[in-house]
Amino acid sequence: MNKRSVRDLDVRGKRVLVRVDFNVPVEDGEVTDDTRIRRTLPTIRHLLSEGAYPILISHLDRPGGRRDPENAMDPVAKRLEELLEAPVLKLDDAIGEEVEEALDNWEVEGGVVLLENSRFYPGETDNDPEFAEQLASLADLYVDDAFGAAHRAHATTVGVAERLPGAVGFLLEEELDNLDEVLQDPEHPFVAIIGGAKVSDKVGVIESLLNTADTLLVGGAMCFTFFKAQGYEVGNSLIEEEYLEEAKRLIDEAGERLVLPVDVVVAEEIEEDSPSQTVKAEEIPAEMMGLDIGPETVEKFREPIKNARIIFWNGPMGIFEMDAFAAGTEGVARAVAESEANSIVGGGDSVAAVAGLGLEEEMGFISTGGGASLEYVEGKKLPGVAVLPDEGEE
Ligand code: ADP
Ligand code: MG
Repeated sequence: MNKRSVRDLDVRGKRVLVRVDFNVPVEDGEVTDDTRIRRTLPTIRHLLSEGAYPILISHLDRPGGRRDPENAMDPVAKRLEELLEAPVLKLDDAIGEEVEEALDNWEVEGGVVLLENSRFYPGETDNDPEFAEQLASLADLYVDDAFGAAHRAHATTVGVAERLPGAVGFLLEEELDNLDEVLQDPEHPFVAIIGGAKVSDKVGVIESLLNTADTLLVGGAMCFTFFKAQGYEVGNSLIEEEYLEEAKRLIDEAGERLVLPVDVVVAEEIEEDSPSQTVKAEEIPAEMMGLDIGPETVEKFREPIKNARIIFWNGPMGIFEMDAFAAGTEGVARAVAESEANSIVGGGDSVAAVAGLGLEEEMGFISTGGGASLEYVEGKKLPGVAVLPDEGEE
């Protein structure tokens, strides 16, 4: 990562607009998972300790450019105040006279201001120049700590960054450094574990990882497209016909580095109590579908995971949301947790699976950006990052 860091900004006495990713789940006015809030605390604390005036902005859910009380930032402000142990002044707008007045008066000594949900304004997702200009006029400097939104060219990620001197926050920096480690010059053995729902979502990721990975373990629904490409019968398992050629090509390209499951858990329906059984990968009965990797596969995957120096994991191994099909994901998660490798976990559902097992602390790094981490690993430029100045740049 060669972007200018918040560490190198002279923020004393300055108003700093900080794009954070506080897009957290909220139920009955309470934040039910505050991970993303906690992960931005280092940047916020740094700004406070350096004597800056932090003005935070985030989107929350998808209110579609309209004010929606359901998605107001108040529950987030409450949680942030508890975690930060400093006052948080939540404003009911993101731009306009009242915001300007509140900032001029700055009544939260030693605390922060949290602006209202950026997606209450249509100008956010349109990256409308006028909206960006209004936001930029509120501050002297810009800090981006919202990895989860970095793949979007919105007003708060790109428009504002074009109008203010900016830098990356500590979380964004850590995200990029960890992903760069798997993309650029990883220690070996480097083991990638790819699962989840669709081949189409992950072809680019697999392709890109094949540049640096020694072993690529494949599970989840996508393995059935690979099986079919090899001529196996896959019953009613999820298949993407239009990716069969691609799957074949990847198998050829990767050779022995690509490791597919040897057994799978199958059932007739995707139901918790649907009778299930474990069968060999090449013996999936016609009326059944594969919903998890089997125990023999978990054993097989355990070996490379144990010996790895670096692990990148994206995508659950089965329908982990149902106990009947969760064992594969759990087995792999435990193996990764036990491995001494630096393990990097990305993807919304994979991260949820790890959290559900209480294994977050055992992992090396957990990415806060689902879509963003996939796009970055695919080698796409993230607009929210590309727009920020490089180290040493004026
Ligand atoms: P991530 O969010 O970690 O990137 P994905 O969104 O790609 O992961 O995939 C997660 C989803 O894939 C989960 O909801 C899981 O139930 C589903 N899934 C995993 N294995 C299977 C399978 N064999 N059949 C159907 N769905 C599956
Ligand atoms: Mg997902």
